[in-house]
Amino acid sequence: MPLDPLTMLTISVALAAAAALYLAIEWRSIREPSLLFWSAGFATITVGSTLALLRSSGFLFIGIWFANGLLVIAHFLFLLGVARFTQTRLSRVWALMFIAWLAMLLVPDGPTWSKVMLLVNSLLVALSTLRASFLLRPHGKSLSVGAVQLRYVLLAHGVFYVAKALTAVIPGTLIDLAALRGAIIQISLVEGVMAIMLIALSMTGTERYRREKQIAHLAARDPLTALYNRRALEVRAPRLLEDVSSTRPGALLLIDIDNFKLVNDLYGHTAGDRLLIALSEMIRAVLPEASLAARLGGDEFVILLGNATKEQVVSLGNTLREQFQQTATQTFPTPEPVTLSIGADLFDQPPASLAALIEQGDAALYASKRGGRNSIRLVDRTL
Ligand code: GH3
Ligand code: MG
Repeated sequence: MPLDPLTMLTISVALAAAAALYLAIEWRSIREPSLLFWSAGFATITVGSTLALLRSSGFLFIGIWFANGLLVIAHFLFLLGVARFTQTRLSRVWALMFIAWLAMLLVPDGPTWSKVMLLVNSLLVALSTLRASFLLRPHGKSLSVGAVQLRYVLLAHGVFYVAKALTAVIPGTLIDLAALRGAIIQISLVEGVMAIMLIALSMTGTERYRREKQIAHLAARDPLTALYNRRALEVRAPRLLEDVSSTRPGALLLIDIDNFKLVNDLYGHTAGDRLLIALSEMIRAVLPEASLAARLGGDEFVILLGNATKEQVVSLGNTLREQFQQTATQTFPTPEPVTLSIGADLFDQPPASLAALIEQGDAALYASKRGGRNSIRLVDRTL
């Protein structure tokens, strides 16, 4: 099927402009800088492809050298956006790309001119694109679905440009940049249209997935300690509690700081906050697998264990109590000791509800407070 290169270029101009606008609007709502880089990349492609249309009117310098240079810049902007997204610093060596492109001005006119242009242009585009794809590889953290899509779209685009560069060194291949003739140029125009669509789509997906994850994280966490909040605990507890049986007893520890108000009154609210954070870190450090911890509010915390023994619960509670007492007395000495009271509940049947379980823990906690504080009270319901 003969493809009219000018029509393909015009479609590219329209699509790239739409992508630039779409990503810019996306940036207005979520303010992620990478979206701006990507939008600028597509805006650059819009200008470059428009200039490429001028080849047919005989403006070869602007239509080829300038237009293809803009394509290189656009891919570099994509790379900058990915670097921003993955919080990576790019080496200054990348500036050599632009020097390489300037050097193209020195290539003498002649039969090989088009081939050298295509070779260097394709390699520079491939370099930026493959580097961006490589930055998106999972390292330590798992990638969101959106980022994985972008990674493979960029990889495919980069590999295509490597292949395109190789065609320039195969003897006898027809490459005529001025007249946009030659199979590889035609195929490249089609690939360009597809790449614009897929890259733009996966770029928005990448940011959206990350945004959704951030929002879900914020909604589930207590902002001060980053432990789960009550709502998140209510969502996650049923799965842990349904596995409870006589061979896998569950346990709840309800923790409240004793005389915590004294820290606020004597050292200020910020000092109180620091102590709450210190306690949350102690809790995180002792938390076994298959367990949940949350801040219920104020100075009250809860730990849910999925597979516990009486000894384990008492030992865990006492470790926290001792560590906390030591930290509190050293950092914020008070007339009345600032310690932990813990109410614990061991059970071998799934409870009616989390609320009912917390109520039982509350009764044990109250008993611990009434008994003089700085202690753990355990109700063993497995007997
Ligand atoms: P008790 O020994 O009976 O537990 O008394 P308490 O002084 O620890 O006070 P109580 O548990 O009744 O109340 C908790 C206090 O914690 C009330 C409030 O001033 C304080 N508080 C609640 N949330 C925060 C917070 O986010 N930061 C700080 N600094 N203080 C808080
Ligand atoms: Mg308290």
